[in-house]
Amino acid sequence: MKIKFYGSAKEVTGSNMILEAAGKKVMIDCGLFQGSSATKAKNFEELKYNVNDIDYVLLTHSHIDHSGRIPLLYKKGYRGNIICTKATKDLCDIMLIDSANIQESDTEYKNHKRNRAGLEPLEPLYTIDDANIALKHFIAVQYHDLIKLDDNISVKFTDSGHMLGSSSITIYVTENKKTTIIGFTSDLGKKNTPIINDPEVIEKCDYLIMESTYGNRQHKVKSHPEELMFDIIEETINKGGTVIIPSFSVGRTQEMIYAFNKNLAIKKKLSIFDKVPVYIDSPLSTSATEVYKKNAQFFDDEAKQYILSGNNPLDFPNLNFTKSVEDSKFLNRDDSPKIIISSSGMCDAGRIRHHLKHNLYKKKTTVLFVGYQAVGSLGRLLADGAKSVKIFGDTIDVRARIEMIDGFSGHGDMDDLDEYISQIKEKPEKIFLVHGEDDQLYPFAERIKGKFDIDTYIPDSYACFELEKGGKTSELTHDRVLTKNTYEKLTLLELVTDVKRQVKDISELIAYDEINNLNQQQIETFIKLYSGMRMNIKNLVREVEHNTKVDK
Ligand SMILES: [Zn+2]
Repeated sequence: MKIKFYGSAKEVTGSNMILEAAGKKVMIDCGLFQGSSATKAKNFEELKYNVNDIDYVLLTHSHIDHSGRIPLLYKKGYRGNIICTKATKDLCDIMLIDSANIQESDTEYKNHKRNRAGLEPLEPLYTIDDANIALKHFIAVQYHDLIKLDDNISVKFTDSGHMLGSSSITIYVTENKKTTIIGFTSDLGKKNTPIINDPEVIEKCDYLIMESTYGNRQHKVKSHPEELMFDIIEETINKGGTVIIPSFSVGRTQEMIYAFNKNLAIKKKLSIFDKVPVYIDSPLSTSATEVYKKNAQFFDDEAKQYILSGNNPLDFPNLNFTKSVEDSKFLNRDDSPKIIISSSGMCDAGRIRHHLKHNLYKKKTTVLFVGYQAVGSLGRLLADGAKSVKIFGDTIDVRARIEMIDGFSGHGDMDDLDEYISQIKEKPEKIFLVHGEDDQLYPFAERIKGKFDIDTYIPDSYACFELEKGGKTSELTHDRVLTKNTYEKLTLLELVTDVKRQVKDISELIAYDEINNLNQQQIETFIKLYSGMRMNIKNLVREVEHNTKVDK
């Protein structure tokens, strides 16, 4: 049994591992490398494995540094399934298309320049078509089900409390009649994060692959960071300024909306919200908020309680979602106090850069960071106190108030990580530390040895470890068996559901009274389209009826 690390080894992005066990290759996550241009360049390196050798891909959560290279697997010919939770699948529907869009437009931009310089055009890392093919192969599973991939490999997803649908994964491998348990924490959230559940601990494993983002750092604000945020907002608004919150579109933005709503509806703390508009200015944030609303079964008890009491936790009266680029630009033409939540969270792309360009030089402005700022990002420069920055080629003087509240982090800090290990009932023999920078990894490894007497490994990129066979033997009872046949059943079930939904949508396309208002050309076109559709439906019904009879 072997484990190989292809990403997030001594760094925080590009999560990608392969477990080779019981004659199979199981990939865990396939994320994009993000950050500096040197890091991003790794996305374009030749893959160090043949995608056709991979039997299964398990996806812990939808963040792009864990999911963002999945379309590339399909571009290279992988046709197996991606197994994840339903919320992860729904979020990937929008996030992978968004990522493909960025890949395409970045390449187009570069090719314009290359063309002028007489250079050959580049190919995008992957296209929207590649992403669409990948998305057809996603299969949603439930938390806590023990899922049998084949006779010797079973997997279980549990809630890692990091974002909607995020999971830790436990893999049970049986070789020579002995079962070895390998746990992957993936990104671990912290307790009391709004909307989502507290992280669940993998209670028993032989080997643990653990994240270390804050392996040696404590969050300064341990609880109620929103109180601090509202104080800063209130001070800024009272001075007539605008508050700009760079925020990740998925997860953090919804937490912000929830926090605003909670204060407005429950505590009534901020009366200024009655007057000051809040703008969510990012198309991805808007669609992600819709996905969150559709996946309320993943919410924590508090958020579910709001829904039951008739309050939509992700909406409030002064909340506006900007739609067009024009709407977005308008926000900077009008100087009245407002709150703008926009992406990207690290200010490296997206509409946030326009808002910064038009507001950073104003003393009245506050830029409020509520998330991790990677080394090399524009956000990190500002958070570190840069006096001037370059945005779209212009040098902008930084006169705005810059604040950083780290209590909103989606990751647990060093105390949370220690508590996690202390709660594992049957401790692992070894812990592999991934998803962290060196200054977090090494002190964390020392602490684990000192506190728990567990050996750790800090793998380099492409490191491979032989895992000794035969850990603890345990009886497994399966909730679901995911053989090829089951995959196909699930695929069919999804297709049937999707067709049903689409038929319903079609039936509402043209209201009867609208038919009276159609012109001659429209009437002719629709007659053609609808008679074609009627023929297709008749054929489908006939074929399905025929085949179900034959099968019996
Ligand atoms: Zn994450």
